[in-house]
Order: sequence, then C-alpha cells, then structure tokens
Amino acid sequence: MEYSTKAVHGQVDDTGKGAVTYPVYLSSTFLQEDVNQFADFVYSRSANPTRASLEQQVADLEGTSYALATATGMAATALAFELLNSGDRILLSDNVYGGTWQFVNELFEGRNLSYELVSDFNHYDFSQLDPSVKAIFLETPTNPLLHVTDLKDAIGRAKAQGLLVIVDNTFMTSYLQRPLEFGADIVVYSATKYYAGHSDILAGLVVTNREDLYSELKRAHKLLGAVLSPFDAFLLSRGIKTLALRLDKHQENAQLIAEYLARQEGVQVYYTGLSDHPGHRIQERQAGGHGGVLSFLLNEEVYDLERFVKSLKLFGFAVSLGGVESLICRPASMTHESYSKDLQERIGIYENLFRLAVGIEAVKDLIDDLENAFHQARK
Ligand SMILES: *Cc1c(COP(=O)(O)O)cnc(C)c1O
Repeated sequence: MEYSTKAVHGQVDDTGKGAVTYPVYLSSTFLQEDVNQFADFVYSRSANPTRASLEQQVADLEGTSYALATATGMAATALAFELLNSGDRILLSDNVYGGTWQFVNELFEGRNLSYELVSDFNHYDFSQLDPSVKAIFLETPTNPLLHVTDLKDAIGRAKAQGLLVIVDNTFMTSYLQRPLEFGADIVVYSATKYYAGHSDILAGLVVTNREDLYSELKRAHKLLGAVLSPFDAFLLSRGIKTLALRLDKHQENAQLIAEYLARQEGVQVYYTGLSDHPGHRIQERQAGGHGGVLSFLLNEEVYDLERFVKSLKLFGFAVSLGGVESLICRPASMTHESYSKDLQERIGIYENLFRLAVGIEAVKDLIDDLENAFHQARK
C-alpha cells in the first residue's frame, strides 16, 4: 500500500463503536479487573490508548513495529542518548540542530560522555576509532546548510565498526526518507515540524527496528516521563493523515523558490533540489524528494539585510519549520545561536545566512513577496 493511503487508514478502530477517528483517552489511570491480572493499559505514563494508536501508525509508516511518542523532539533525542553509558563517546554531524548541539555541549560532560564533531561522514574513516566511540548521530540533509550524507555507505561503514547509528530525520520524515532501510538503528524526529504540520503542538518520535533497543527506550520513556499527552497524540495523528499531501506541496514550492533565488543577483542558494548542489545526486538516490527547507546567503553589499526581512509580508520571522505557513529565520542569531562564533564561521553559518521553511501557500504569492523584499532592500 502506498504511503499516503496508509497514513489515512493507519489507525484501527478498537472501540467497537465504529469511530472513524481514533478517540482521545483523557484518562490518567485505568481500572483493572483482577488483583493478579493487569490489562494493556494501566497508567498513561506507561501506555495510553491514543498514544499507542499513534505509535502504531508511525511505526507502520516507517516499515517497522516499534515507535515511541515523546513530549518534544528534544525528548526523543534525549531518549536515544539514554542508551549511552558513562565513558562513551559519540560522533556528531557538525551542523546538527542547535538544541542537540547544546545538549552534547552542556550536558555530556557531567554524565561522563564525550563527542567529536564530524564535518563530512561521507569521507570519514571509521576504521581508526578510539574504542570509547560507541555511536554516531547524524542529520541528512543537515540543518541549516543541507549537507547530504550517503546513508547506505556511511551507515554501512559505521556498522562494520559496531557503532550504534542514530539519525535525526526531522527534515525528511518517513514519507521522503527511511534510514532504518539503510541500516540505522534508531531514527528520531521532532514531530513538532512536518508530522504535526500546523505549528500548534510540540512532539517527538523515536523509531527503531530492534526489539532490544525498543525495550530499553521504552523503559526510559516511562521512567523519565517525557511522554506525549493524549490530546497532542490525537493532533499528531490527525496531522499525519495529510503529511504526504502537505510535503508534496512544501517541496514543490521550495523547488520553485530555490530556482527563483538562484537567478537573483547577490544570492547564493543551498537546496538539494538544485542540480549543482554537491549532494543532489545522493539525495535523489536515497530520498523521495528534497523537502521544504532551503538556505541562502544574501550579499550585504547588494542588500540591506534588516530591510529585506522587514519587507516580507508572508514569510514570518520565526524559528521552526514544517508548518503550513512560510517562515524565515537567521540561524546565526536564532536556531544556531548556541554555537560559538568560531564554529559558526568554520561551518558556514554566517550572519548573512537565512533559512526558509517554505509553506504550502500559492507559490506565486510567495515569490511576489520575495521579489518585493529584494526590491525594497536593494542598496
Ligand atoms: C526542531 C528540531 C528538533 C527539536 O525538536 P523540538 O520538538 O523543538 O524539541 C530536533 N531536530 C531537528 C532537526 C529540529 O528541526
């Protein structure tokens, strides 16, 4: 069955009432029939029917049986990090999500964990690693510079050294890219973004195809308590039903906007959908599309940056992505503000870099909005 069909029909009615939409079980606890025998649902931190239904829907779409829904995307990443033991070291993409960077930079030391930043997993030699290195954590395409890692090749080489592979697949979702099929052990998501799709909830997902990892993750999920609330689980399931439809439009718009931006003077665009992007061919091979996020450098000799942002009427100036509305942000002072200036410069997060989260509006209106802003900002 195709993804969009599964996404619509993925939730089973187990209510006996023929509900077409899975109900919200706003119950913290569940009555048990017998002193010695407990039912599937006992207490909502361990399991809740609405959350379980969502987890089933998400696992099916990823082609596996195991998914956990967390309170936020960071809670999903934190759960994956719970699998590390004191003394372990991980390899991390050097342009990961700002919060992930802040987590390893600020919380790892106190837990006796360490990390090493890797700028390009495609050419990384995993064969000379210190034995303390236990895992790799990567995003592809990265945030915000859209570097692409060849999943099959990099994961294959990392697994050959016995490393645990964790992929943050937020930018792609399981609609466009399924890292488990390339050998990843764990996939994490900020479902706040495309899965939920309407900028109205925070949520996270952890997916695996390994039962041993699932039971460890599930225990941490319950004991740390960062579970998704039943109502947010309902909203997330509802969002997932239109995920394919929305992402098709997000990326159709992003492609046209990237092509438009590439034609402007003083603009350098990063989008894997452009054929001159260094990761274009790998992306075409391993993913079902290029997603709805792109970045660009605006030449300050040609444009007044502040005036450019202020002149935009449809692109809201805000962090986040994946909602139906278009947004623009400046990673250096917003999403990646926690990176040191040195690290920002080294990896290319300059002050004049902007990131667009392209929404599902009519693309002509979005391009008109950009056109007007370029005109107003011209020096
Ligand atoms: C937003 C985001 C996160 C964190 O998710 P929250 O839901 O905000 O906690 C993690 N990774 C990526 C790539 C993100 O964009």
